[in-house]
Amino acid sequence: MQKKNSEPLPIFVYSSDYDMDLGPHVFPSVKFGFLYSRLVDNSKFKKHKFVEPEPLTPQEAALVHSRAFLADLNSLTMSNRLHRSELPLNREIVDAFYLASGGTALAARLALESGLAMNLSGGFHHSYADHAEGFCYLNDVAISVRMLQKEKKIKRALIIDLDVHQGNGNAKIFHGDNTVFTFSMHEQNNYPVKEQSDLDIGLETGCRDEQYLTLLSQALKEIQEQFEPDLIYYLAGVDPYEHDRLGGIALTKRGMAERDRVVRDFLPGVPMVTLLAGGYAENTLDTIDLHFQTCEVLARFR
Ligand SMILES: [Zn+2]
Repeated sequence: MQKKNSEPLPIFVYSSDYDMDLGPHVFPSVKFGFLYSRLVDNSKFKKHKFVEPEPLTPQEAALVHSRAFLADLNSLTMSNRLHRSELPLNREIVDAFYLASGGTALAARLALESGLAMNLSGGFHHSYADHAEGFCYLNDVAISVRMLQKEKKIKRALIIDLDVHQGNGNAKIFHGDNTVFTFSMHEQNNYPVKEQSDLDIGLETGCRDEQYLTLLSQALKEIQEQFEPDLIYYLAGVDPYEHDRLGGIALTKRGMAERDRVVRDFLPGVPMVTLLAGGYAENTLDTIDLHFQTCEVLARFR
């Protein structure tokens, strides 16, 4: 009972410029604006703060990304370092990635100050230091970790990546770095080519709620025994959903909510920043609904 008022109210970070025109593309970039509208139009969220980010600078991005990669990106040169993004390349899109990454950096700071924050974008975990992959130009999470470490605001970060695709970019960037623990739980027989995270759980295709939630709880227990983070990054991708076009595992909406609750309640007292990551449901409204559900769980409405 006495803890009731001490639960942090999540702060949301959003800009209308997160949306980008990708042309006909499987990535539903309209989800950013729709999710924001659903939150601000809902009276349950009227006490919550919505904050607008500034874009990252190229110098900040250079804390993670190579000079050659950023030169291609900033000059809109579709080189072999960029073409695996499977995204078009134009100024609007590049600017949207700098802005979304600024959103993750801001949300991480707000989480450190107040306990809980969420960027209504971000989680671009397939981006490497020297090349783009899988709809990800800049690696917002890795850049944010390096910014906060440089400013001595954190020493150790934990990445909990529950997108259905492995967080290969983060695994590679932080490989051998004992200040950042990378945990990825993903469908084994799916994109991408796997890198080695500190803890990987490769799920069988068709994996359902009960097995998923059991494996998740076991993994978190294992992590708790070996790592003490100052900040948690939660990549709450909604592509483990049973009707996702790019995922092959079979979580129900209820199972997804339980997943979010398990992560929310992990290590109470440690600040957590949540990112959207992927989601490609047959019906985009389901994708938006599942991201909205994550917001509701964080705000303890579920
Ligand atoms: Zn994904």
